[in-house]
Amino acid sequence: MDILLATRNRHKVIEIASLLDGGLRVLSLDERPDAPIVEEDAPTLEGNARKKAVATAAATGVWCLADDTGLEVAVLGGAPGVLSARYAGPDCDTAANNIKLLEALRDMPPARRRAVFRTVMALSDPSGGTVVLEEGRLDGVIAVEPAGANGFGYDPLFIVTSRGKTLAQLSLEEKNTLSHRAAALTRMLPHLRRLALGESLC
Ligand code: IMP
Repeated sequence: MDILLATRNRHKVIEIASLLDGGLRVLSLDERPDAPIVEEDAPTLEGNARKKAVATAAATGVWCLADDTGLEVAVLGGAPGVLSARYAGPDCDTAANNIKLLEALRDMPPARRRAVFRTVMALSDPSGGTVVLEEGRLDGVIAVEPAGANGFGYDPLFIVTSRGKTLAQLSLEEKNTLSHRAAALTRMLPHLRRLALGESLC
């Protein structure tokens, strides 16, 4: 059975495919050029994940798994949050986002640099009549300077509380044991397994 991931982010496809254990063939949007570009304009991670999953499943006729992730920094009122991808502006890149985050937290002590990565995953059938939402979280602290060369996005700035290292200092395998996306996917796996067995989701 096929599951379409509503992403063109190669890093995410690799991460998610490596966490899924057989039974399901993971497709990315690169393999379904007929899939629509869905604007992520909902005010919450939940809203964006649901919107992407429902619209993509409806357009392609394939069960679809979508996720939306935000980095939430408590002292910044939860920012960048749902705007994490475009924190430094509509067409900004990762470097600009990371610089803006470091600036926003300049001179703040570790206790005020606490943050959480939150991923919401949505699984939708092609009719949009069945939608399952699950969430995963990872606690951390924003570093004062980037460290590490792995991963993507905010990884070089996010020190994982339980490891004392940034996500970019962990291997993909280590990241997959503890990441916010892995936690969301772990919660989603029972639903995916039921799907692979042809059972209904409720
Ligand atoms: P998305 O909406 O899930 O694609 O992610 C929103 C923003 O968060 C993007 O700027 C990503 O680079 C960033 N992001 C998502 N997941 C991660 C991660 O695992 N590590 C670091 N940054 C991430």
